[in-house]
Amino acid sequence: MAGIYIHIPFCSKACHYCDFHFSINISIKNDFLKALTNEIKYRSTFLFNQTIETIYFGGGTPSLLNPMEIYQILKTIYNHYKLSESLEITFETNPDDVSEIYLKDLHNLGINRLSIGIQTFNDQLLKVMNRNHSSSQSENAIKIAQNTGFDNLNIDLIYSYPSKIDNLDFNTIYILQNDLEKMCAFDISHISAYHLTIEEKTVFGNWNSKGKLSKILDDNAIIQFDLVVKTLFENGFEQYEISNFARNRNYSKHNSAYWLGKNYIGLGPSAHSFKDNLRISNISNNKKYIDFWLQNDYSLIESIQNLEILSSKDKANEHILTRLRTKWGIEIQYIKKLISNNQSKIFDEQVLKNLNLKLIEINKNHIFLTQEGKYLADKVALDLFCE
Ligand code: SF4
Repeated sequence: MAGIYIHIPFCSKACHYCDFHFSINISIKNDFLKALTNEIKYRSTFLFNQTIETIYFGGGTPSLLNPMEIYQILKTIYNHYKLSESLEITFETNPDDVSEIYLKDLHNLGINRLSIGIQTFNDQLLKVMNRNHSSSQSENAIKIAQNTGFDNLNIDLIYSYPSKIDNLDFNTIYILQNDLEKMCAFDISHISAYHLTIEEKTVFGNWNSKGKLSKILDDNAIIQFDLVVKTLFENGFEQYEISNFARNRNYSKHNSAYWLGKNYIGLGPSAHSFKDNLRISNISNNKKYIDFWLQNDYSLIESIQNLEILSSKDKANEHILTRLRTKWGIEIQYIKKLISNNQSKIFDEQVLKNLNLKLIEINKNHIFLTQEGKYLADKVALDLFCE
């Protein structure tokens, strides 16, 4: 099983907290699409004809593409890859881009999973984050998606907002309660709930350094995480990854494949590809990406991608990093096969330490985070990493 990720590197405006790769210069979109077509064809041999089970349009803002542009991308993929009959195609969209006609077109193109970037239903917060939509547009977008037949629907939620942003005060626990209540009232199958991280090179990062923003305290972040987990559980959602919740086992097949270490191809600027022990990272620069893929000489491909050969130790650490956060847990035997006796001894010591701290538990030879451990997942992963 393998997947394809397509990064659409454009947004209509820059959200104040976002450090993903995107540009608001949409004038080069046509050139980007031509370049992307060439990359799709070129990378088609990367996975040696493995069957593609999932396609994911992420970004940036994929909903800046019109249906004809999406059709052209999918057509190129269909012509060059072997595809599963039960293909999951996910498409990320912002609420302000949603209309009945647009979603009908997406549905007719075979897109069967929609992810809407709601973030919060609080209008003042949306404004200060520089989001392009209002809460009523969000509610409308969900209703339209459901009416157009998107049963497999994800909503993105952000929590742990600063209590002060640009000198405005926010009652963030009240906002979160309201957001969860509204989200759960919709009959949706999936919620991705992310703790807001203040990244340095963003407007929020800048405001933070100037004292115009008060980051949430750790204790309050834990209270909010608990509230998310508890409320979603009570409303029928299973937490199958720290930030991902599904009703009726409607897991994201695409993201689950990442966490389970499956191979994938990443297309577009900043996207990554992964096969066995090889990782390729595309350049995070739209112009350089386009210039390269529009010329017909691919001999200098190393100028726009970075190749990394993963050692056995890297693979073990990758497994720890991704699987620890999931309901599938870390496979102890898999790790042991990849590391030396000495590393194995240190790994066992760290496992014991975290068991004693009640941050992890072991069941059927797999390591899982306890609820307490979920607050400290990054720290536990660091402890378990092999040197
Ligand atoms: S729309 Fe998404 S990718 Fe674009 S700036 Fe906002 S958060 Fe970032």
